[in-house]
Amino acid sequence: MTGSREAERPEPSIPARAQAEPGTVHLVGAGPGDPDLLTVRARWVLETADVVFHDALVREAMVSSLPKSTEVVDVGKRVEHKTPQSAINERLVERARAGDAVVRLKGGDPFVYGRGGEEASYLAERDVPFAVVPGVSSVIAAPGVAGIPLTHRDVASRVTVITGHETPEKEESALDWAALADDVASGATLVMVMGVRTLDRNVAALCEHGVDGETPIALVERATWADQRVTRATLSTVVDRAAAADVSPPATAIVGDVVAHRDAIEDVLRPFEPA
Ligand code: SAH
Repeated sequence: MTGSREAERPEPSIPARAQAEPGTVHLVGAGPGDPDLLTVRARWVLETADVVFHDALVREAMVSSLPKSTEVVDVGKRVEHKTPQSAINERLVERARAGDAVVRLKGGDPFVYGRGGEEASYLAERDVPFAVVPGVSSVIAAPGVAGIPLTHRDVASRVTVITGHETPEKEESALDWAALADDVASGATLVMVMGVRTLDRNVAALCEHGVDGETPIALVERATWADQRVTRATLSTVVDRAAAADVSPPATAIVGDVVAHRDAIEDVLRPFEPA
């Protein structure tokens, strides 16, 4: 069977510019989960790589379709078998220096909360050539598939993206909650990633700083996956709703009047059907 499948496989017609380059690390965005949302460039680079180091959020369907000769390494940072960032960095350098065409495949976009920036610096400091292939970030995809426009001419002309990890209690929080609250109160859309476990504290921080409890919020879980789910609430109700629905990561929260826009189109919006 394998032999005949080999024979059926069309000659690769991947242009030279888009082939993974030996001795180079390619920081590639995998998109939010559905393999159809890989960019064409990402697909080409993946198909011509010698080794692919991927994250936990990169779905099996994306790596299982790679050529058999490609080495696939899961460096996912799930608590049980976590690979420290320093070890990942070292392995990238090691393989590139050995002459391999290396892909570092990350969920969404590599430079949006993906530590791609740190990897790029590490490689640059060691003179290891690297390339970047942007991906469809969940910041864009999660509201998109839920029918929530991030901006809307009548409602929101600004978008702020934060990580929920920066909890208000954290002493050196990089987030200015008063400023964020002003932003939301003045009509900006707020997108929060990695915010499921800290939802209660972050919502409380917004409300304490003056955001109306009636402000709409949506939690989009597993956007573009087969079991994608949207929970719609207001800031006052979201913590209870999320607990009742057992909302769990990965999920992206969208706060602002744009969320209400979805209510009007929800019945007509076709569900996103993943590959
Ligand atoms: N680089 C990634 C983000 C990594 S941080 C990107 O650009 O998308 C991980 C967080 O991203 C998760 O905690 C979650 O908030 C969000 N996320 C990733 N995949 C998601 C998905 N399929 N649906 C909803 N949120 C997702």
